[in-house]
Amino acid sequence: GYDVQEKIDYVFKVVVIGDSAVGKTQILSRFAKNEFCLDSKSTIGVEFQTRTVTINAKLIKAQIWDTAGQERYRAVTSAYYRGALGAMLVYDITKRQSFDHVARWVEELRAHADSSIVIMLVGNKADLVDQRVVTTEDAVEFAEDQGLFFSETSALSGDNVESAFLKLLEEINSVVS
Ligand code: GDP
Repeated sequence: GYDVQEKIDYVFKVVVIGDSAVGKTQILSRFAKNEFCLDSKSTIGVEFQTRTVTINAKLIKAQIWDTAGQERYRAVTSAYYRGALGAMLVYDITKRQSFDHVARWVEELRAHADSSIVIMLVGNKADLVDQRVVTTEDAVEFAEDQGLFFSETSALSGDNVESAFLKLLEEINSVVS
């Protein structure tokens, strides 16, 4: 019978990292299922979600890993980063501390992940315009300085979530092929 699995050209592992409560789980569920879950911690225990997309005529299965709340309690282990070709590094535009910690997350990636990993810096909760404390300019400057791609998203409205993931997957595709 017809099996869509047979037609997959690549599987790309992507990890989602960043401080607790910045919206990592919601971004992932928005991209994988086009959902925003009000009961956001229902995903604890789920290790990854997948979505298959077409990029440059290749069928690519994105296997996207969530820390499932573990970032709260201990350093994310190197097993989490093993084989990852991309990372979504998320902060919350309304929480200065989550942006201040981005440099630490980059160090963690440089220490544990493959050196060719493609990193997308994501300023989430862009819908909360009145509560913004991290300017787009500051984030762009940091991203350029560190060689990261950058996007501002809202998992709530869905704005830019798809384009941020697709950009990351396109860049990974151009690295591997
Ligand atoms: P995680 O700990 O990084 O996985 O964060 P969650 O995905 O659990 O989200 C933390 C909280 O922020 C939850 O109450 C979400 O409903 C909320 N949240 C996540 N993304 C957004 C967003 O884009 N906009 C707004 N307004 N709230 C969000």
